[in-house]
Amino acid sequence: MSPIPILYIDLAPHPGGSVISLSHLLSGLDRTQWRPMVILSRQNDFAGFEKMGIPVAHVPTPQREKRPAGVVEQVRQGKAAASIRSTPVLSHIWHWGGALRHWRRNVLPVVRALTPIIRDFNPTLIHLNDSVALMQHAVLAARRTRTLAIVHSRALVPTSAFDRRILVPGLSGMIFISQAVAQDQLRGVARPPLTRVIPNAVDIAQFEQPVDGASVRRELGIAPNAPLVGMIGRIIPWKGQHVFIEAFARLRQRHPRAMAILVGSADTAQGEEYGARLQQRSRELGLTDNLLWLGHRRDIPQLLAAMDILVHCSVEPEPFGRVLIEGMAAGTPVIASAAGGAMEIVEEGVTGLLTPPADVPALARAMSRLIENEALRERLRQNGRRVVRDRYDIPSHAAAVADFYRMVLGL
Ligand code: UDP
Repeated sequence: MSPIPILYIDLAPHPGGSVISLSHLLSGLDRTQWRPMVILSRQNDFAGFEKMGIPVAHVPTPQREKRPAGVVEQVRQGKAAASIRSTPVLSHIWHWGGALRHWRRNVLPVVRALTPIIRDFNPTLIHLNDSVALMQHAVLAARRTRTLAIVHSRALVPTSAFDRRILVPGLSGMIFISQAVAQDQLRGVARPPLTRVIPNAVDIAQFEQPVDGASVRRELGIAPNAPLVGMIGRIIPWKGQHVFIEAFARLRQRHPRAMAILVGSADTAQGEEYGARLQQRSRELGLTDNLLWLGHRRDIPQLLAAMDILVHCSVEPEPFGRVLIEGMAAGTPVIASAAGGAMEIVEEGVTGLLTPPADVPALARAMSRLIENEALRERLRQNGRRVVRDRYDIPSHAAAVADFYRMVLGL
């Protein structure tokens, strides 16, 4: 039998966690069984799929990010708008006006751009690489072309009544990257399609020794024996870099030689504003020489190998937290926020430490505890590696997804 064509659609504007996870899935997919093609947003310059010999099409998509308020937004945020919203009839008109504007600008043009590509490739199944609320256009394009579609929910985003009542029942299946995402996305859904929780995977070989962290320390001028804590993630308020900075300042009171690195870039206007506030705060705390801002980096395995501790301190529940399985694969002890998908990955005291979200003193204590306890670090390192090999390897992940395709297609 010839390979079954599957079309993957990911319209994130940047090559973030969703696209990286998709590339891992496709790298493990049995190409004698499945023939993939990928559609990405035109702004997304990720080149990994072409390197795997997978055809890629780009469609123009509206930016999902927040931009500085234009004239229309300023009116929408002004006093007149607030008084309209507090009047029941006007508030209804306001709401529907906003919905229509969203559809006209963000949804329908993308449906029109996707439709000819779907018709041309003629897939047996469309795999939509994010939650329904972020994929409305692609769900509608699948329906318009009468093609079976599943969503791979990767985000904790609110679903509207329209999403739950109209879009979800038309899907053939839903994959969730964590139990947390499954619970969130299925809330209020009366008739869910086939569902399955399949956690993300990591390319373990990329993170295993002999990856060298010493060269990163040399590049950054960090002494080989200085305690080094790091955080990897987009610069955006909910990722909690402010909590990291405050906790690091406390850590230095007890461990004056400690150093920190912040890895990741601000991809949105909101993120840039937040980054500027963080820089200001780190100057106020006297951290200029000890907290290094590295921006976006590609050498994540080397950076993890250089760190003594990887900190994850999102202040809102994380849908999954790829960086945690990357840290564990690298044998870098992790501290994670006790919320959302992170709690399904990290077991307190076994594969990492958990601290309550936004709790600066608790995070500072956890960092000190790990720095001062080599035996604990070694235990977390070994357990982390074992758990990643058992649960988060690419071949098992790709096999689980392929198994789900067969179930959906009745093969
Ligand atoms: N990442 C990267 N370079 C950076 C920052 C992040 O390659 O400078 C990668 C990181 O290694 C991880 C992904 O981006 O694979 C982020 O995934 P995660 O689930 O942690 O967060 P998301 O961005 O999806 O919310």
